[in-house]
Amino acid sequence: MSQTAALYHLQTLDSQIDTIRTRLSEIAELLSQDDVVRTAQNTLTAAEQSHLKWHTRQTELELERSTLQEEAKVAEKRLYSGRVLNPRELTDLQDKLAELNRRIEALEEPILEAMLAIEENSQHIEQARSQFEHVMSEQSHQFGELDKEQTVLSSQLDQLLAETGQTRSNIEPQYLETYSRLRQRPGGLAVTLLKGNECGVCGVELTSQMAQRVRHGKVITCPTCNRILHIR
Ligand SMILES: [Zn+2]
Repeated sequence: MSQTAALYHLQTLDSQIDTIRTRLSEIAELLSQDDVVRTAQNTLTAAEQSHLKWHTRQTELELERSTLQEEAKVAEKRLYSGRVLNPRELTDLQDKLAELNRRIEALEEPILEAMLAIEENSQHIEQARSQFEHVMSEQSHQFGELDKEQTVLSSQLDQLLAETGQTRSNIEPQYLETYSRLRQRPGGLAVTLLKGNECGVCGVELTSQMAQRVRHGKVITCPTCNRILHIR
């Protein structure tokens, strides 16, 4: 393989490597994004916490009500037992019973409110859970695909890097240096093909003597754009 052919081949390999590296960093970026799952998870957790809060409230209110009902039952029993004869005590008992019943009645609305909130929350939880499962399965599918692509690309990259090393070892250091310098320019094209007697990039026409030397595998750079010229 002539020096220019090796340089041209190296450029083909390096371009492929660049493409793979770009895609690999895109994949790494995508794999690190799990915002959608996190949001769905947070929504579900919030719904579950709210549900728990209302459940606790309902239990507390019902406990309070049953304690008051128990007290009212005792007071009522005593009031109608016929054993309390003192008018003052009877009045006190009647007042106490009325007060207990007022408190029991006052609990009805908050208990109903808690029950409605629990019912509403159950629906929220169901929605949040199915959304979470949906997002998780979508993500694991997408991540699975990206993971496969990453594996394939990584092994291609390894092969290309090995081949690059081999190709580089066949190129004289001075030409490698020229190549590296040219690759760093915008566009990254260091080697170009000769079309007839013209540079494939800038189109300048070479003298037939120069073109002849390119054909013989000499490393010649374009007098206008400085790229290494090669002919296949
Ligand atoms: Zn040129």
